[in-house]
Amino acid sequence: MSTTPGQEYQRRWHESHPGYHNRHRITAVEKLGGRCVGCGGTESEFLSIDHILDDGHVQRRALKWTGSIYRNIANTVDSGAYQVLCLNCNIEKSLVCVRRHEAVVDGKACKSCDRLLGPSAYRKRGDGWTRTTCKDCESDLRRDVKVKVFTAFGNVCTCCSEPRLACLALDHVNGDGSQLRRDRVHLNGYNLYRRILNGSVLTVGLQLMCFNCNFSKHIGGVCVHRRP
Ligand SMILES: [Zn+2]
Ligand SMILES: [Zn+2]
Ligand SMILES: [Zn+2]
Ligand SMILES: [Zn+2]
Repeated sequence: MSTTPGQEYQRRWHESHPGYHNRHRITAVEKLGGRCVGCGGTESEFLSIDHILDDGHVQRRALKWTGSIYRNIANTVDSGAYQVLCLNCNIEKSLVCVRRHEAVVDGKACKSCDRLLGPSAYRKRGDGWTRTTCKDCESDLRRDVKVKVFTAFGNVCTCCSEPRLACLALDHVNGDGSQLRRDRVHLNGYNLYRRILNGSVLTVGLQLMCFNCNFSKHIGGVCVHRRP
């Protein structure tokens, strides 16, 4: 079963933010300006602290968990290494620097793009280098499939109209996604997208949602935008 980078990110995010709702996060976010430096959003539930130089994982290891980073920022004067990002802008940042493979003289030609590429550009299968389509072309293909499916769903978040592709994922309206996956009716990510395109999965009960709204719906039952 495959997961999209977005879902994987969300999972890791949940793991690394056990203290998300503690007061230190709110104090730290307020201290750093209280709004997302990417989109300007001020909805507290969406906001998290991002390490500007991207060595957040080193910090986290040193401080054990992100709650300590919040406390650190809340309690110290110098917080210049950090910025506030909402979940959408955070994931967009994390996906920007996906490196593409470079051609090498003694490489093997990709069936799809014709570039000569080394073993690391191909996905391993069995004892090695048998794939003939490079990882770059595979991810382009996955992206095309995703774009087609998202277009069918209107290309924006159902709740807040967020238009950035990297911030969107399909969401089960009734929150029954995990049950459906267990029943093998729906699969995650790419497999689900492909089956939607070939008509073997109905789109009833699915909607396009951004990570901000999705996270908020997950922790509060409905997104904060829809709460009374
Ligand atoms: Zn933002
Ligand atoms: Zn290729
Ligand atoms: Zn949204
Ligand atoms: Zn929303």
